[in-house]
Amino acid sequence: MTFDLLVKNATLPDGRTGQDIAVTGGRIAAIEPGIAAEAGRVIDAGGLLVAPPFVDCHFHMDATLSLGLPRLNQSGTLLEGIALWGELKPLLTHEEVIERALRYCDLAVSQGLLAVRSHVDVCDDRLLAVEALLEAKAKVKPYLDLQLVAFPQDGYFRAPTAARNLDRALDMGVDVVGGIPHFERTMADGAASVTALCEIAAKRGLMIDLHCDESDDPMSRHIETLAAETQRLGLGGRAVGSHLTSMHSMDNYYVSKLLPLMREAGVAAIANPLINITLQGRHDTYPRRRGLTRIPEMRALGIPVAFGQDCTMDPWYGLGGADMLDVAHMGVHAVPMTSREAIRWAFEAVTTVPAAILGLEGYGLAAGCNADFVLLQAADPIEAVRLRATRLAVVRRGRVIAETAPRHARLTLDGRPALVDPAAYRPPVGKN
Ligand SMILES: [Zn+2]
Repeated sequence: MTFDLLVKNATLPDGRTGQDIAVTGGRIAAIEPGIAAEAGRVIDAGGLLVAPPFVDCHFHMDATLSLGLPRLNQSGTLLEGIALWGELKPLLTHEEVIERALRYCDLAVSQGLLAVRSHVDVCDDRLLAVEALLEAKAKVKPYLDLQLVAFPQDGYFRAPTAARNLDRALDMGVDVVGGIPHFERTMADGAASVTALCEIAAKRGLMIDLHCDESDDPMSRHIETLAAETQRLGLGGRAVGSHLTSMHSMDNYYVSKLLPLMREAGVAAIANPLINITLQGRHDTYPRRRGLTRIPEMRALGIPVAFGQDCTMDPWYGLGGADMLDVAHMGVHAVPMTSREAIRWAFEAVTTVPAAILGLEGYGLAAGCNADFVLLQAADPIEAVRLRATRLAVVRRGRVIAETAPRHARLTLDGRPALVDPAAYRPPVGKN
């Protein structure tokens, strides 16, 4: 038997060590210790972690890498970001949006990020970004799964042509229904937009993912309507509330009613730690709120929670780099959630949990799954988060599509080691 690819001596996220991964025909043929067979290419993992690829379940690919165009966000607020994006939108060209998307995907692949759910603004009557990202989606398909959400950035009711454009975008092949109820003019309009959008998702048999309550206002409670409408229309398992930052500031008694409703309805949550630790609390003096949603409490109830990146170098966020370990690392700090169990979960929140939310087929490390995985310069998932580990090799359908040299430093100190390997600083086995 000859395999296309054989990875030797890998550690898996579930803790199994000394595993070999054999690949044939773009799929994983076997994962077990000591596979003795020929292969077109053999990679010695050297006991390091091999994980399924990173998944970003919340992103804005139409805006990415536009930092400084046409100017910078001075206040750092969500609302100035939306206004700035509104200034940039009429200036966009089809070629430029595709080029920026492709360039971003190059970076994503190099970071082992092989699936992205991107919102795409439908409030430009030209639907230029929709056309461009649909084209980009087809172009990157061999190496990255791009799922698109029809997103009425300026409000489904607030922007006069948003409703019509959203339908047009879905007709053109955009995958998921989006919305932004907290940006409508009134709470009543926000709630009505949630109902209208859920009905569209139900009628078309699509998933729904709303920017929901991205606000410090504890009375922003559109997640309640989203959960109730999800239940009424049978959208359980395919409905997502993104951000949910108002929940940070809500009354505890109200949340004790809200979370069980979310669980019963089957609504998942996506938190975006890099963005909301910087956007929220901007109207506060001191103490200043963190503005992340209630992740430990949702996890305790069994509500699926994932981490998204949201932005990289755009009107809302000047940093970022397609690094989902950076996102997990910030999540651990910003929530905060520092138990070993919670840090291990943070790794799942950027891999398996968002893969399930997106409904990715063939995702995972098991025989029969797509041969998509990442070799990290880290011993295990906690170490990967701690180090924001280098992606030594990225494999898609059995082919190595990106490689990075290991991060080592040479020391010139008398009596000290000549080489420093950050991954060698792991805690003793059994302490992790
Ligand atoms: Zn967003």
